[in-house]
Amino acid sequence: MARVYNFSAGPSMLPEAVLKKAAAEMLDYEGTGQSVMEMSHRSKAFDKIIKDAEALLREIYNIPDNYKVLFLQGGGSTQFAMVAMNLMNKNNKADYIITGQWAKKAYQEAQKYGDVQAVASSADKTFAYIPKTDKSMFREDADYVYICLNNTIYGTVYHELPETGDIPLVADISSCICSEPLDISKFGLLFAGAQKNMAGAGLTIAIVREDLIGNAMDITPTMLNYKTHADSDSLYNTPPCYSIYIAKLVLEWIKNEIGGLDKMKELNEKKAKILYDFLDSSELFKGTVVPEDRSLMNVPFVTGNDELDAKFVKESTEAGFVNLKGHRSVGGMRASIYNAMPIEGVEKLVEFMKKFEAENK
Ligand SMILES: *Cc1c(COP(=O)(O)O)cnc(C)c1O
Repeated sequence: MARVYNFSAGPSMLPEAVLKKAAAEMLDYEGTGQSVMEMSHRSKAFDKIIKDAEALLREIYNIPDNYKVLFLQGGGSTQFAMVAMNLMNKNNKADYIITGQWAKKAYQEAQKYGDVQAVASSADKTFAYIPKTDKSMFREDADYVYICLNNTIYGTVYHELPETGDIPLVADISSCICSEPLDISKFGLLFAGAQKNMAGAGLTIAIVREDLIGNAMDITPTMLNYKTHADSDSLYNTPPCYSIYIAKLVLEWIKNEIGGLDKMKELNEKKAKILYDFLDSSELFKGTVVPEDRSLMNVPFVTGNDELDAKFVKESTEAGFVNLKGHRSVGGMRASIYNAMPIEGVEKLVEFMKKFEAENK
């Protein structure tokens, strides 16, 4: 059986070691005689899984004690409403930075619930850069400032966080969770759909500063109130058990096989450099993002010729490099090189691109 190199933006590759472990434990998880998919979420075995997953995430990210880790459902997209309903609660105001479609969707959703302002945007250049902001641009009485830390579709990332003073910073980290260390104390809330870099679909992780929990709008549905989940250790109702189990295996892999987030970052930088260096030297392919805001996770690139782009996608797929077609709003190609993409995957892709370039001069 040949596994492909999967450059999908999400759901995406998982570490092979994790898939093998999950396969080995499928029929009989640690002597329970059942798979994790089949067991009660109130069982002793599952209780250990969810507690271990949380402890690992706390350890790896060095999450301060005054933050709750929540295992939720509904994907990153449900957080667009949940953030607003739970946090826009003092002055009913929030400021958003629009760095792409995900930030824009979050902004539009929040508009249903309060006075929401877009303080900066990079829409003028197809979101190919991160707009500069300073503290004076944010309303002093905003309940939070919202960013999308890594922009999956456009391939930009914040290398430096916006300065928001005392205003809580909220970040969507769906496509960069656990890709490098983060100073969690700089944020009021972070969230991520798990299917890009942590587990299968179905799980959403939120890391929330405790003082931001418990003051949701009256209209907030019980299931969309962070307090509901914080008070019941993410077991208010049935959580996405199997995805939480996979997330635990991924976190163990990051800790034990990779050696933590500093090492993860080193590896991700090494992988991304191979691809960016090639794009910078190629006469056929070029990256679409300004160099200083380039993402380590998502790398969009184009040839400048739609027919050649289509030819490249077709031939690369046949060669075992799959899901390289770019998002329809950028066109061209996009290589998502999340944590689980091995360095050989990127090296072989670049070899293939060189060959394609030589053949299509
Ligand atoms: C994929 C993605 C989302 C949407 O996630 P869903 O889980 O599909 O709702 C939101 N934000 C970012 C940055 C993403 O990459």
